[in-house]
Amino acid sequence: MGTENADDYLMLSGIQHDFFCKRQWALIHIEQYWKENELTVSGNILHKKVDQPFLKERRGNKFFSRAIPVISHKLKFVGKLDMVEFHKDKNGVEINGEKGCWKPIIIEYKNGKPKIYDYDRMQLVAEVIALEETLKVDIDKAYFFYNDIKRREEVIVTDDDRNKVLEASKEMMKHFNLGSTFEGESHKNCSKCSLIEYCMPRVTKKKKNIDNYLERFLL
Ligand code: SF4
Repeated sequence: MGTENADDYLMLSGIQHDFFCKRQWALIHIEQYWKENELTVSGNILHKKVDQPFLKERRGNKFFSRAIPVISHKLKFVGKLDMVEFHKDKNGVEINGEKGCWKPIIIEYKNGKPKIYDYDRMQLVAEVIALEETLKVDIDKAYFFYNDIKRREEVIVTDDDRNKVLEASKEMMKHFNLGSTFEGESHKNCSKCSLIEYCMPRVTKKKKNIDNYLERFLL
């Protein structure tokens, strides 16, 4: 671990919110607003099923490990991965309690049809970067697992993806430290957003902070 204080790092899962909508990320991670909707509830149920710490399953020359904690000093993120599949591979890494070397493959669980949105993809890329740093190994791909149809979709992680995530992480940290929320502007993801009632994107456009906005009109 580096000399920086990991207690000050941001949640890795925030990268998905950030690529979904920068304002949504800021409302959740800076202003601490959160509200469930149908999409987030079904996602949480699925993740709860997957999220059973320390559980390992073994099948032949591979084993699966759930809820693995990861840290990236490069991104200044901490988080937990749904599931990592380890394949016996002489080019892999040593894992505590296991004989030989192992290559990790991240599996991210999703509900619904196999449609890869950019915000899901960027979360997977951030997970890859964090797992690489945590285990000191190179990873070039990861998978989404679509629970409804029990199918995997491969995602190749490019340098361009890595740069996008790195740049986003720097911007997130900058805004987090300033405590500044992004402006609310109606866009295509608003209809899927659980925070739409709080955000009021059309009304609050050009008004950065909800509390300031409410203060002006209600107090
Ligand atoms: S309602 Fe729209 S602008 Fe507001 S946080 Fe959600 S996605 Fe972002």
